[in-house]
Amino acid sequence: MTGIQDGLLAETRKLEGWGRYPTASGLSTRPEKISAVREVVASGRWTSVLARGLGRSYGDPAFNPEGCTLFAERLDRLVSFDPSSGWLRAEGGLTFRAILDLFLPRGWFLPVTPGTRHVTLAGALACDVHGKNHHRDGSLGRHVGRIRLLLASGEEVECSAQELPELFQATIGGMGLTGVILEAELRLRPIQTAMIRQQVKPAGDLDSLMALLEEHDTRVPYSVAWLDTVAEGRNLGRGVLLLGDHAGIADLPSSQAGNPLRRRTGLRATVPFDAPGGLLNPTTIRAFNSTYFSLQKRKAGESLIALEPYFYPLDLVDGWNRMYGRSGFVQYQFVVPTETARSTLVGVLEACAHQGLASFLSVLKRFGPGFGNLSFPFEGYTLTLDFPVTPGLFEFLDELDRRVLEAGGRLYLAKDARMSPATFRAMYPEFPRWLEVKRQVDPHDRFRSAQSIRLAMHSQEVPSR
Ligand SMILES: Cc1cc2nc3c(=O)[nH]c(=O)nc-3n(C[C@H](O)[C@H](O)[C@H](O)COP(=O)(O)OP(=O)(O)OC[C@H]3O[C@@H](n4cnc5c(N)ncnc54)[C@H](O)[C@@H]3O)c2cc1C
Repeated sequence: MTGIQDGLLAETRKLEGWGRYPTASGLSTRPEKISAVREVVASGRWTSVLARGLGRSYGDPAFNPEGCTLFAERLDRLVSFDPSSGWLRAEGGLTFRAILDLFLPRGWFLPVTPGTRHVTLAGALACDVHGKNHHRDGSLGRHVGRIRLLLASGEEVECSAQELPELFQATIGGMGLTGVILEAELRLRPIQTAMIRQQVKPAGDLDSLMALLEEHDTRVPYSVAWLDTVAEGRNLGRGVLLLGDHAGIADLPSSQAGNPLRRRTGLRATVPFDAPGGLLNPTTIRAFNSTYFSLQKRKAGESLIALEPYFYPLDLVDGWNRMYGRSGFVQYQFVVPTETARSTLVGVLEACAHQGLASFLSVLKRFGPGFGNLSFPFEGYTLTLDFPVTPGLFEFLDELDRRVLEAGGRLYLAKDARMSPATFRAMYPEFPRWLEVKRQVDPHDRFRSAQSIRLAMHSQEVPSR
């Protein structure tokens, strides 16, 4: 259904996240101007609203099935840039891709970036995204100045670590539930070249991989390990550590040194349709894991690699989420403290093997200190696993939740599609503090998402499952 409501074009459409599970049908609108966003928030026509960026969060945090989902990616004006400091001010819908298009050729890079550049500034802040440099530079929230937020009352406020600091903290990682991020300031970092010096270090088992991460994290800004979830027995947890640092001009061969900021984005491919029955099934995933490990082992050593394929390898395949077929997939990402990391990782990997589950993309990384409130990272190890949605999967993941919780860990809200409200509260002990701020700025729960409803984030009480 398409129609004009309060002067705005609104349509009923299928709503989903990047994992394509769960899905819902709901009203949406795509404002072109901030004045239209104000109208949507102020309008009594919709019981509740939620801003959405490019929908790159995986589960159900970026849509509102009962009110109106506000697709905010067209609010993408660049407001100002100070080349003496790197401070950029932009509307929330500006994408990381657009920031790179504009600033990479001028010698500036993002201070923190997730594994895709197809995210908006506001969406990335609302999830407080982390990158390969979290152990050193923290999450995105640490690199933000002021945020202009549209509140449920229609009032617009500026908040930062100094002004309204509690609202600022609650908004970073606050999953769009404190208001609409209209503008934000982000400090870009200077770079000399568009190349990365990469080191590839294979490890035959989990202990060697963790030892490599700990040894190199203190020295190298970017580090992430790919893990072979198919390997068992004495090879359990084998993987490849990928380290990176920005190359200087002196690192480039003479053929590139004359144009050090030239971008090399790599060849692109597209998944044009839903893979029937899912291209990524246990057999293909197993084959991929073994082959990938052997290939990476052969690449061991140092090389120069273009910045964008290094940070965004998945962006080279448009619509890769369709490879899982129509039922979709979930990305299960948890963090556990360093002290309990080894035993939890072994337990989780063994449980997956026992269940006959293999993950296509499994990433292990160390986090530095966290940001607080609902922000996901804290000091420890994070593991990311992808699973196609199949019968019995959620019961198995409930079991993993128990392990993660016992180890003092938590799941990432930006990837979550299924955890229970009780698990959420136990994993996020600062939730009551966050809810107090939410109640002050949104007493009638104007901002709601499918996830906030599922996790009962509008109430202090722990509902029974
Ligand atoms: C291939 C891939 C790799 C990824 N790698 C990483 C990674 O390495 N690290 C990491 O942390 N994450 C990672 N992610 C997750 C992704 O970076 C985050 O979910 C990101 O926030 C999505 O941005 P978006 O603009 O698509 O936001 P959406 O998914 O559209 O929305 C995410 C949240 O932001 C809120 N929001 C959006 N716009 C606004 C606004 N204007 N005002 C207030 N709230 C708003 C929404 O309500 C929602 O709660 C990855 C995702 C993919 C698909």
